[in-house]
Amino acid sequence: TPVVQLESVSRAFGRSRDAVAAVSDLDLAVPRGKFTTLLGPSGCGKTTTLRMIAGFVQPTSGRILLEGADATKTPPEKRNIGMVFQSYALFPHMTIIDNVAFGLRARGLAKTEVTARAGEALELVGLSALAGRKPGALSGGQQQRVALARAVAIRPSVLLLDEPLSNLDARLRVQMRAELRRVQRETGLTAILVTHDQDEALELSDHMVILNKGRLEQEGAPRDVFPRPASRFVADFLGYENFPVLPGHGPVAIRPEHVRLLSSGEPEDAGVTLEATVTNVTYQGSHCVVEVNANGLGDGTRLLCAHPGEAPRPGEAVRVLLPAAHLVTL
Ligand code: ADP
Ligand code: MG
Repeated sequence: TPVVQLESVSRAFGRSRDAVAAVSDLDLAVPRGKFTTLLGPSGCGKTTTLRMIAGFVQPTSGRILLEGADATKTPPEKRNIGMVFQSYALFPHMTIIDNVAFGLRARGLAKTEVTARAGEALELVGLSALAGRKPGALSGGQQQRVALARAVAIRPSVLLLDEPLSNLDARLRVQMRAELRRVQRETGLTAILVTHDQDEALELSDHMVILNKGRLEQEGAPRDVFPRPASRFVADFLGYENFPVLPGHGPVAIRPEHVRLLSSGEPEDAGVTLEATVTNVTYQGSHCVVEVNANGLGDGTRLLCAHPGEAPRPGEAVRVLLPAAHLVTL
């Protein structure tokens, strides 16, 4: 059985006439021991979904099952769930080790057990040396690792992570992704991460679930979803920037790095070749983004091409190839 199951779960906020549907008719099965992410833009219902799984928000309709049993009405403290938020939510007056031990004491575990488990959890995130400090003496990244240790220490049946890395600077965020993944693998915990960052979701997920306006748009392994977005929304969100309508194909999506500028004499791969005019070139270091207007497609069909070689000049006539292998039919 999946650790967490949502059966046609909806949640509206506000009174019936002007109610906002935060989550609509969501079906979800969260696989055991895997890393699942809920991915989508701000306001799409990620946090509401997570808070319903934790029990802080009640569904307006539908059922939530934990370990196969209906837990829709189970209060949060009876759900055995670990949570980490964007804000670290540590107790400032307590030492690091006491922060980690807090949930264990609250569960009435024996003192020796509390000490052992809190120490183990702190070790897991590499912060044993800071056990006696107060949170204020730690960096943001360290505080977030303490919050993670605290959530893991109770050995939750599911670990819920609501944008835990979004307060960290870019470098640290990337380091902490690897850290999160390692902790999940080492503990074998079932994790659900909420994020609006597609790179984070692609790197961390075994299973990713893309939400749009409270509805499930697409789900699957990153390797399956990324090359095969099922809708314009998903393609757009995953960084497909070109959406032409091709004669004989209909609407398609293709990534800039897959659009090729053909030099004369080059053998053409299978795909659609278009005559085009360069309208703009942007230097990006490792490549240039060449913006072209595809003449054959009628006015204003702009395509972006990430081009590693020498860039053409604006006004130049070029041929661009949209390789069949990378065309996604929408
Ligand atoms: P996300 O986490 O994806 O940004 P949320 O789940 O926080 O999205 O919010 C989804 C929608 O529900 C938004 O339109 C938000 O304004 C609304 N919403 C969330 N929580 C509440 C609440 N407590 N009261 C009223 N509206 C809410
Ligand atoms: Mg949120």
